[in-house]
Amino acid sequence: MRDFSYSRAGSLDEARQATLAPGALLLAGGTTLLDLAKCGVTEPETVIDISHLPGLDAITVDEEGITIGALARMSAVADHPGVKAALPAVTESLSLAASAQLRNMATIGGNLLQRTRCTYFRDPATFPACNKRNPGSGCSAIGGVTRNHAVLGTSEQCIASYPGDMAIALVAFDAVLDLGTRQVPVEDFFLSYADAPEKETVLQPGEMILGVKLRNTAAGMRSTYLKVRDRQSYEFAAASAAVGLEFDEDGKTIKDIRVALGGVASKPWRARAVEHALVGKVLEAETVAYAARLAMDGAVSYSDNLYKIELAPRVVTRAILTVGGLA
Ligand SMILES: Cc1cc2nc3c(=O)[nH]c(=O)nc-3n(C[C@H](O)[C@H](O)[C@H](O)COP(=O)(O)OP(=O)(O)OC[C@H]3O[C@@H](n4cnc5c(N)ncnc54)[C@H](O)[C@@H]3O)c2cc1C
Ligand code: SF4
Repeated sequence: MRDFSYSRAGSLDEARQATLAPGALLLAGGTTLLDLAKCGVTEPETVIDISHLPGLDAITVDEEGITIGALARMSAVADHPGVKAALPAVTESLSLAASAQLRNMATIGGNLLQRTRCTYFRDPATFPACNKRNPGSGCSAIGGVTRNHAVLGTSEQCIASYPGDMAIALVAFDAVLDLGTRQVPVEDFFLSYADAPEKETVLQPGEMILGVKLRNTAAGMRSTYLKVRDRQSYEFAAASAAVGLEFDEDGKTIKDIRVALGGVASKPWRARAVEHALVGKVLEAETVAYAARLAMDGAVSYSDNLYKIELAPRVVTRAILTVGGLA
């Protein structure tokens, strides 16, 4: 790991100013930043500690919705009864992520900005070719082992998948990020890796995530996050789905439905085609299974990850039937 200088930000403004310097990175829980520094993917000149800044760890739930500060710990949000009542999909996405120890350290802002788990990306010494680390150098994953790679939003430049869980639930429920000077829907915050894999979000130097806001919705209250992975804990998603459902007054016709996918795409992936196909339909297993296949429109696989094209619609189907009371 290369030497870097460390400083504690005295204020929010100081932290934002500091990010304008080349090679400067913010430190929140440190669980991603230090990992990436150790394996040589990130080589910061300066690390600016923001973990102690006051007022950024609040979690508020009221009649409008949920507001979560960027420095709120994953465990604090996962354990918050108000969040669980208003949006169980967010609670579940956090409870199923990482480990208890990591959730106690890691923050909401840092969680959103975690980087792909592509093995080639994380091993620069063995695999110098990686367009995400070094634009124009090629992609070591294509032609290699691609079991954990994405099938949606990819290109011949990069097939890495976005690994986080919470962002999937946030995208499904139209969460908005507070960047201080502007508010950005989480869905627009993330960029698809396709054309410029090195650019993952719209965050600019001088900006930082201050918090996230979610409006209360009936579909949010009836929501879930289903994560399928190689082992039951401490593992990233092979495929996951955040879904929410609201019925018409008849209790069986779908009035509002939210579907977003994780583990299969280059960014948190809203499956609008599935939503459009199901609004106004009576909830039935066959209808849902048929619509769920639309989530894979445009999917491209590289042999090892072909299974995701079959798995993801099944995950979506099961999640919808679960919140609909049919599973
Ligand atoms: C072994 C392991 C397993 C994991 N499993 C999962 C999993 O199953 N699911 C899952 O979702 N995640 C998983 N994670 C990822 C984990 O959730 C993240 O490491 C964590 O959430 C990052 O938060 P942090 O506060 O530690 O971020 P840090 O490491 O402090 O920061 C991460 C990045 O975000 C930037 N940053 C931090 N805060 C801000 C801010 N407010 N504004 C702007 N930039 C900011 C930093 O500069 C850095 O670039 C796993 C991690 C590990 C190590
Ligand atoms: S898939 Fe993306 S992150 Fe992985 S090696 Fe290829 S370019 Fe790098």
